[in-house]
Amino acid sequence: MGATPLEYRLKALIRLGGPVSIADYMAICLGDPEHGYYMARDPFGAKGDFVTAPEVSQMFGELLGLWAADIWLQAGRPAPFNLVEIGPGRGTLMLDALRACRVVPGFLAAARITLVETSPRLSAIQQERLTCAGHAAGWATTIDNIPDGPAIILANEFFDALPVRQFVRLQGIWRERVVGLDAHDNLGFGIGPAVLPTTDVPAHLRGADDGSILELAPTASAIAETLARRIVRSGLALLAIDYGYTETAVGDSFQAVRAHSPADPLARPGEADLTALVNFEVLARAAHHAGAQVSGPVEQGDFLTQIGLMERAGRLGADKDRAAREAIAADVHRLVAAEEMGSLFKAIAFAKPGIAPAGFG
Ligand code: SAH
Repeated sequence: MGATPLEYRLKALIRLGGPVSIADYMAICLGDPEHGYYMARDPFGAKGDFVTAPEVSQMFGELLGLWAADIWLQAGRPAPFNLVEIGPGRGTLMLDALRACRVVPGFLAAARITLVETSPRLSAIQQERLTCAGHAAGWATTIDNIPDGPAIILANEFFDALPVRQFVRLQGIWRERVVGLDAHDNLGFGIGPAVLPTTDVPAHLRGADDGSILELAPTASAIAETLARRIVRSGLALLAIDYGYTETAVGDSFQAVRAHSPADPLARPGEADLTALVNFEVLARAAHHAGAQVSGPVEQGDFLTQIGLMERAGRLGADKDRAAREAIAADVHRLVAAEEMGSLFKAIAFAKPGIAPAGFG
């Protein structure tokens, strides 16, 4: 198999300018306008590379829609308000959410829908599916272009796609991990010139073993803070669900997935999904800093159970045959069981003080 177009481009870039950070490598592989992973393909579902919760079951988007409607009711039914999804993939979550919210009088009429999506390919799919279902929506390519006014913002598996930097502890000094070229002109990991000041390392990790890796998520932190400021200024709330950890720790979570299997993150650039686990402590800190009220993180299994997954599954299966009921039970298991998505995935909410997001008990 020959090199991917992005591999040629990355190697040329490295020959000219030297090794790139893990963050730059991730950003290029995912976001290169021509050959980036999300730009050119539809990675979801059984035929794609991975399956996300909204693609597992319609119940996921339906419950998130009703979660949003509850926020809207608590806020006194503002009209209009922005219903926003960041990183909407195939648009499935939003479609399921909107369908479920038909039962909430006034909600759909008040909602101005905005989808924030960088990929032209995916926004075309979202547009086609929303139009088919009879919904008018607007698109933005960055969070800075979300229309003003109160907003309810949803983000599922968005933060894991944002670039992280990695620092390796070597003889007591935290040095940046980079992607460069090895003796055979292949992409390989190396150590770059940047050093992380010890004061930026959480105190309990300063004595970590040599070779330990610390990940920083500057982009996730900046986006979380911007969104939280907006929520505090104009209302209403944000809900983010993703796979990640709740307290900063050492470890290498930079990973690639291709065709439902783990892959080498440096192989086939542009053809594999690259992610890093989300550091929820970073998101929570950014939101606190902006003055938002933070709920969670809690495990996805607990969150979905609290907002009514079992009841929804029961109703969905009520007039179905046994096979369909078993399929629904299997979907529930996949979403909530600890050994499936229930524990690794977590939910966090930011809200304007005074709003009490459901699901965080
Ligand atoms: N939420 C969907 C898709 C998750 S995949 C689901 O659960 O199925 C990540 C999504 O985020 C894709 O739609 C991708 O194109 C989008 N994305 C990645 N980086 C982005 C960025 N910086 N801004 C907006 N969207 C981004």
